Amino acid sequence: MPQQGCIAVLNAGSSSIKFAVYEAERDGPLLFHGQVEGIGVAPHLKATDADGKSVAEQRWDAGALDHHAATDAILELGRKLLAGRPVLAFGHRVVHGGTAFAAPTRVDAGVLKALAELVPLAPLHQPHNLAPIEAIARAVPHIPQVACFDTAFHRSQPALAQEFGLPRKLTAEGVRRYGFHGLSYDFILTQLGEAMPALARSRLIVAHLGNGASLCAVRDGKSVASTMGFTAVDGLMMGTRTGALDPGVLLYLMERHGMDAHAIEDLLYRQSGLLGVSGISSDMRALRQSSAAEAREAIALFVYRIVREIGSLAAALGGVDGIVFSAGIGENDPRTRAEVAAGCRWLGLEIDEERNRRGETRISTDRSAVSAWIIPTDEESMIARYTRQVIAGS
Ligand code: AMP
Repeated sequence: MPQQGCIAVLNAGSSSIKFAVYEAERDGPLLFHGQVEGIGVAPHLKATDADGKSVAEQRWDAGALDHHAATDAILELGRKLLAGRPVLAFGHRVVHGGTAFAAPTRVDAGVLKALAELVPLAPLHQPHNLAPIEAIARAVPHIPQVACFDTAFHRSQPALAQEFGLPRKLTAEGVRRYGFHGLSYDFILTQLGEAMPALARSRLIVAHLGNGASLCAVRDGKSVASTMGFTAVDGLMMGTRTGALDPGVLLYLMERHGMDAHAIEDLLYRQSGLLGVSGISSDMRALRQSSAAEAREAIALFVYRIVREIGSLAAALGGVDGIVFSAGIGENDPRTRAEVAAGCRWLGLEIDEERNRRGETRISTDRSAVSAWIIPTDEESMIARYTRQVIAGS
């Protein structure tokens, strides 16, 4: 009997590459997953099977591994664990698809070149996303690769939702709102579409609240507006990112503090958000455990910004039928959900404390005018699903 093939997914960030391998059949189960973290600092590979049992662990010296070498290490591990089972395709998370890539795309040399041209739009992420694609194309050029974009889900937004008040020339060159976390939103909407189709067609605000955080307004299953814009630093306050900031602050920092682009980037992306406001941690769990007033203030600002932006997206939607919580904080922190819901009482949202505490799928009361839900997200499984579809169609 021929051996069943599988689909491998890679999700590369600035210092880590997550990977997951699934059976190739439709909605095939996870075989194993893991990540190489600490790339460039203290590389550490860990992999577990679907039950969470460790199947591999390896460490390297600081600086011994870049993204290419980390991909080679993952391929090596895959060969060992799969013991001859073929990988039919690799699926990748690619943060930026620009305006051209509105759907998952099979990668060839031309596509790779076009994606590399988008690096200036996402210099912190796009090169890391492309590195594993290049490494795999070199190592196993016969295996198809599929790029799945974080921006693609938002290409359905009306033109006005994608524009800044900038001169047309800059809009034409690509300085516009793109929106991110699209694979997460797509996964959540796909789940809702299967389990609760009427809800999936209604006016929803989906809150992806993790270390990165954004909201997306969805109508008829399609993105109408989102809090992230040209980059993933816009919108909500996050673990270490500012979220929306008066652009005048940047001018002030340049003139008063002589900060250059590099220093400002570090401030906006790595020193701000929950970490910057609390001075303690970017991690919600650590802040919840802290008794410091600064920790409470950071959480209060995180929640306040979410509530304000929900108001903005409610206006873009012309009303709200449901709110969905997802990602690390949205799925696991009942207090954040309750505090956000309390700020949304004016919308007609009433939370059931017990359902919220237990983390049930529906956390609003039965009589609440706006329903509230917890839907766990899974970007890797969305990439696997898309990768199967693209290779089946090509
Ligand atoms: P993510 O980026 O989706 O992995 O989410 C990471 C964030 O989720 C961090 O701020 C974590 O502290 C937070 N998180 C995970 N589990 C919990 C929990 N049980 N309670 C509060 N926050 C949590």
